[in-house]
Amino acid sequence: MKYRLKELASLCGGELLGTDATVMRVSTDSRTLSEPDGTLFVALRSARRDGNRYIAELYRRGVRAFLTDSPVDAKAYPLAGFVRCADSLEALQRLAADHRTSLKGTVVAITGSNGKTVVKEWIAQLCPPQIRLFRSPKSYNSQIGVALSLLMAEPDDRIVLIEAGISQRGEMARLERMIRPDLGIVTNIGDAHQENFDSPRQKADEKLTLFEHTPTIVYNAADPLLARLVPERYDDRKLIGVEPAERELDGLPFDDPASRANAALALALYGALGFDTEPIRKRLPRLQSVAMRLELKDGINGCKIVNDTYNSDINSLEIALQYLSATSGNRDKVLILSDIDQSGLPSDELYARVAELVRANGISELIGIGEEIFRHAALFDCRKEFYLSTDNFLKAGERARFVRKSILLKGGRRFRFERIGRVLENKIHTTVLEVDLDRMQHNLNYFRGLLRPGERMMAMVKAAGYGSGTFEVANLLERQGVDFLAVAFADEGVTLREAGITMPIVVLNADSDSFDLMLDYRLEPEIYSRSSLRSFTEAVRRHGAGRSPIHIKLDTGMHRLGFERADIEPLIDTLRETPEVYVRTVFTHLAGSDEVRHDDFTRSQIALFRELSDRIAAAFPELHILRHIDNSAGIERFPEAQFDMVRLGIGLYGIGFVHQENLLPVSTLRSRIVQIKEIPVGDTVGYGRHGVAKDRPVRTATVPIGYADGLNRRLSCGRWSFIVNGRKAPIFGNICMDTCMIDITGIDAREGDTVTIFGDGATVIEMAEALGTIPYEIMTSVSTRVKRVYTKE
Ligand SMILES: *Cc1c(COP(=O)(O)O)cnc(C)c1O
Repeated sequence: MKYRLKELASLCGGELLGTDATVMRVSTDSRTLSEPDGTLFVALRSARRDGNRYIAELYRRGVRAFLTDSPVDAKAYPLAGFVRCADSLEALQRLAADHRTSLKGTVVAITGSNGKTVVKEWIAQLCPPQIRLFRSPKSYNSQIGVALSLLMAEPDDRIVLIEAGISQRGEMARLERMIRPDLGIVTNIGDAHQENFDSPRQKADEKLTLFEHTPTIVYNAADPLLARLVPERYDDRKLIGVEPAERELDGLPFDDPASRANAALALALYGALGFDTEPIRKRLPRLQSVAMRLELKDGINGCKIVNDTYNSDINSLEIALQYLSATSGNRDKVLILSDIDQSGLPSDELYARVAELVRANGISELIGIGEEIFRHAALFDCRKEFYLSTDNFLKAGERARFVRKSILLKGGRRFRFERIGRVLENKIHTTVLEVDLDRMQHNLNYFRGLLRPGERMMAMVKAAGYGSGTFEVANLLERQGVDFLAVAFADEGVTLREAGITMPIVVLNADSDSFDLMLDYRLEPEIYSRSSLRSFTEAVRRHGAGRSPIHIKLDTGMHRLGFERADIEPLIDTLRETPEVYVRTVFTHLAGSDEVRHDDFTRSQIALFRELSDRIAAAFPELHILRHIDNSAGIERFPEAQFDMVRLGIGLYGIGFVHQENLLPVSTLRSRIVQIKEIPVGDTVGYGRHGVAKDRPVRTATVPIGYADGLNRRLSCGRWSFIVNGRKAPIFGNICMDTCMIDITGIDAREGDTVTIFGDGATVIEMAEALGTIPYEIMTSVSTRVKRVYTKE
C-alpha cells in the first residue's frame, strides 16, 4: 500500500492536521511497531487500551503519521501529520476497502465455524511454488484483523486468502464491504459463538452475507445446513458443493472426517481457480497439522490422552470424538467431559445430542463433571460416573484404574481440566520445575495495585526469569501490557525476540561487543559510562540504524555501574551532540530497599536521583524521559519514589517484603520416588556413609534430584525436608550428584509418588534461611536440565 495522508483524509471523510506524509504500512499496536518511518499508526480504543496514549512515545520513536478519532494537539508534534476522523476503526476499514480495489489477484474469503485456519493454511501448503500467495496472519480474522490483512496484501499477489470470523450479528456485512471476495469458501456451521444468535440458521445466514457479491462459492456439502442454505440463497452463482467422502484424498496423512473435509475444500479451491489439480493432489502427503488444539500424548499405564481443554461447544466435541476414534486403535474409549457452557441450545436438547455422539462414537465409559451433565445422567447408556467438580474427581484418585485406554479430556476453561491432564499424562521428566502462570499474574496484579494510575512498569526477566523460564514469562507480561522487559545480557534478549516477543527490551549489562547484535534485534542498552555511550553511538552509525533509544544508569550509592554527580553536565553536553541516540529512560538502583536499617541511606539515594535525573530531564524536555528507581521492595516500601516507572523483579515470582501473605509462590520443584528401601539398624546410606540407621530401621525413598540439578549439597543430612503426601521427609545422608535419599519412615508412600522439594509447604524463603542465603540465589540455581512446565488456566 502507499497513500498520502491527504488522500486518506478524503477517503474517510476526515481532516488532515499538521504535515502531510506518505504511509506504506499500518500499525495498531505500539508494541509491535518496528519501522516508524512510513508507518501510519491508527489509534484505536478498546476496554483495555487507548491507542492515543501511545502517540507521544511513538512520535519520539520516529512515527510521523497518525489516524485518530480523539482531539489532538498537532502543534505539539511539529513533524507529524494527523488524520482526524469520526471513528478510527471505520476509517481503517475504509482504507482497507480502498486498497482492496487495487488487488489484481483472486481474493478468497474463508468463513465457517471450525476449520477456517486449517483450510487457509492447507491451501497455502498445497500452493505450487511459482504462484504468489498471500494469506492473512494466524488469528487476524476480526474487524481489525481483516483490515490489517488486506492492507498487507500486494497488488501482484495471485491468490489472496482472507479469513473472516464473526461473533455477533451485523459484523459480517462490514467484513464483506472490505473484502468483496471474488471467491468464497465456507467450511461448516456449528455452535461456536452461538450465544449471540437465536439459531444456527440465523448464524448461517449471517455468515453467508460474506458472499453477497461473490460469483463463486465453494462449500462443504456434507454439512446439512450449508447443503440446504447455500443453494437456496445463492442459486444465481457458480456453486461448488464439496462432498469429502467422494473426494480422492490419497496420501492425506490425517484420517479423521474434519481433516478430510478441510483437505477436500482446499483442493476444490484450486479446481475452482482453474488449476490442474493433479500436481496439487500429489502434495497432499506433505500437509502438516496446523497448531491443532487437539494434542495426543502418552499417558499413564499405556493410555493415550487427547487433551482438548480449550473450548467446550458441541461441534468441537464432535471433532474431538472423531479424532479420538481415529487415534484409539483397539483401545477402549473413555470420555471425560465437563458441562458444556456456550451452546445456545436448551439444556435437554444439548445433552440429548451429547448422548447421541457418545453412542455413535462407541465410547465405553463416560465421566461427567459438573452439575448440568449430572442432571442428564439418565440420557447416557454406557458405563458412567459423575462428579460435581474437577476437584472431586481428582480427590477420588481413580487414575490407577485407567489401563490401556484412549481418553478424551474435554472441558470448558473454568473446569481446569489441565489438572486432570497432569495426573493422567506420562511424565517423561521426573524432576520438573512447575511454573504457575496464573499465580504470577496474581502477583503482578498485587504490585500493579500499589501503583499510581498511569505509572509504568518494567518487568525483570533476567537470569531466565529468575529461573522460572524466559519466553513463557515474557509472553504473559507482554499480554498483560507491561511496558518494558529487562534482561541481563544481549543473548537473553535475542532469544526472546526469536521466540516472538515484540515489546521493548532493555539489556542491563550491555557489553559493547554485542551492540551490533542488539541493534539487529531492537534491544535497548543500559548506558552507564562515557565509553559505553561512545561505543553504542559508533555502532548506531555503522549500522545505519535510525535514532536509537538508550537508558541512562546513574550511580546514587550502589557503586556498581552508572554515572555519578560529576559526570552529569559532560554527559548532557555529549548527548546534545549525539543525534544517533535519544534518552528513553533514566534510572538508578537501590542498595538496601528491603531493610529498615538502610532506610536513611535509601532516602538519600532517592533524593540524589531526583536531583540528577531532574537535570537530565530538564535538558531534553521534548523527549518526555521516564524516570525509575523502585525495585520490588521499593514498590512496597517507598511508594513516594515511584517517579514514572517501577522495575518489578522478584515480587513477580512470589517473594514480598511487606505483605508476603498477598503473594503466591510461582514455582514448585517436584520429583518422584523411584525406589523405596528398608534400611536395617546399623546400615548406612549414601556417600561418606553419613546416613546412619542408628537405633531404628529406616525406610528411605530415592529421588532423582541431586546437586547437579541445583539442590544445594549443604542441605544434606536433614538440613532440608521434602514434602511427601503432605508430610515432611528429611534428606537422609549426603546429597549425590543426580539423586538423594529421604527418610519416609512412617509416611504412607509408594514408588512413583510425587515429592515436593520446594513450593507450597516448603517455601523458597525457608530454604534460603536454611542455607544462609537469599531466595534469589535458590530460584536461579535450579539447573537448566530440569524441565520447566507451565500451567495456566
Ligand atoms: C534485578 C534488578 C531489579 C529487580 O530487583 P528485585 O529486587 O528483584 O525486584 C531492578 N533493577 C535492576 C537494575 C536490577 O538489576
